[in-house]
Amino acid sequence: MDDREAFGWFGIPWWSGICYDDDGRLTEEMRKEFPTGETCYICEELFDETAGESGTAIPSPEGIRHTHKECMLLEIIGPVDRPGMGMSIRQTALEVWQGFRKRYGTSAEA
Ligand SMILES: [Zn+2]
Repeated sequence: MDDREAFGWFGIPWWSGICYDDDGRLTEEMRKEFPTGETCYICEELFDETAGESGTAIPSPEGIRHTHKECMLLEIIGPVDRPGMGMSIRQTALEVWQGFRKRYGTSAEA
């Protein structure tokens, strides 16, 4: 198993230490094929390449899985605000992602 398989990213690159190195260079060698037909390890929704989704590989007890970048952030920082009633994990993750971007701001759109 190589690093790209276990820790690579897929989809549209976003401004982060995952897709870019310290010099701001896109880490093309870590880019994986889009995991079409797979579900996100965290929110369990199908990945949708046409929706412009992106994310990373995530080692799990069942082997290498993949997760949306927003869901990964949710997993790391946890929901800042309590999710509204009836919101899915995916919706919560997207909300948190937006809030995070607003708060800290990123120059590159992803
Ligand atoms: Zn997800």
